[in-house]
Amino acid sequence: MFTFVKPMKIQTLYKQHSCSGLSGRYITFDHIRPLLNFSSSYISWEEIGSTQNDLPIVNIKIGRGPKRILAWSQMHGNESTTTKAVFDLLKLFDQKEVIQDKIEAFFSTYTLSLIPMLNPDGAALYTRENANGVDLNRDAADLSEKESRVLRSAFEDFQPHLCLNLHDQRSIYGLPSGHPSVISFLAPSEDQQRTVTATRIEAMKEIVRVNRVLQKHIPGMVGRYDDTYNHKCVGDAFTAAGVPTVLFEAGHFPGDYNRERTRELIFYALLEICGITAVSSEIADHTDYFEIPENKVNFKDIILRNVKFHKDDEPVSLGIQYRETLIDDTIEFIPVAESIGDLSNFYGHLELQGKEKEILVNYQQNFDIGDKIATITEKTSKNTLFSSNT
Ligand SMILES: [Zn+2]
Repeated sequence: MFTFVKPMKIQTLYKQHSCSGLSGRYITFDHIRPLLNFSSSYISWEEIGSTQNDLPIVNIKIGRGPKRILAWSQMHGNESTTTKAVFDLLKLFDQKEVIQDKIEAFFSTYTLSLIPMLNPDGAALYTRENANGVDLNRDAADLSEKESRVLRSAFEDFQPHLCLNLHDQRSIYGLPSGHPSVISFLAPSEDQQRTVTATRIEAMKEIVRVNRVLQKHIPGMVGRYDDTYNHKCVGDAFTAAGVPTVLFEAGHFPGDYNRERTRELIFYALLEICGITAVSSEIADHTDYFEIPENKVNFKDIILRNVKFHKDDEPVSLGIQYRETLIDDTIEFIPVAESIGDLSNFYGHLELQGKEKEILVNYQQNFDIGDKIATITEKTSKNTLFSSNT
């Protein structure tokens, strides 16, 4: 039924049909509200609830087919990359120029129920948690929060065949190979024994298909999350309720702190799930899921290797991590001293070489972990090794 769409073609599709109205990391309900305006009769939206601070939670319905997919993004307010990608997908579905045969096939095969922003309060505050400081992805058992109850009702009313739980992961994750984990996945467990049940196998097959697509774009940079069971996590709870659930984690592509590249990759992944590309038309073998390398915490944003803070010190490495800070409606990436030591088991997205020179941090010999770093200079030559302005 579907024909192969070559990688070049989907890149062109993305360039021509991505949603230019959303960019950067700070994506709030105010940003998406003007985009809830669709011309296709196959796309509609409604308010399905409200947040603690009384912002609307909306659900967008796409298609009228028998296969039901429920997806939600930005359950963690500061994780906006997949929200950008779902609006790219909506823009593609809502045009009348290209791949109409595939889009019509999607509309008649699937119904996608999409909650593009489950936690608008957290999005406005740029926090992981909701306005009550609760992590909604640890509230699946208690359902103490309004947002959690909205998602649970959507799940029970819609009775999906597949769920997509769309998140961002921090830039600290990498793979044993030394590559960053640009995107990672999980087919959550439904019991303490992490039994590979029929429900999990379905989720694993989806991940195997999507991984095949992503390997063409980011070879060796896809990871797999730890599958320890936690009944408080939504994916684990929905899997335990018998619905295959795929956790997406959009991560860091080198140099791309605004995550526009990762957004494009998530778009490709969603096209594959929705059968638009069907690159992986052959049957997916779920055991390939276990061939995807497991994520490790082995990256720092910047590592300055081989430096001394005092003349007689042994050379050490300085790990620097960006602190994402909301200033005037944009996210500033503020470099902060995070660790000092050997760090030979870590990789830096940016690696700087100190050549055993004695250095000054912010023109001082002494500083503390957690301090902001404006500049690092060589003590004698005054050469700048790092500046937050560059
Ligand atoms: Zn998350």
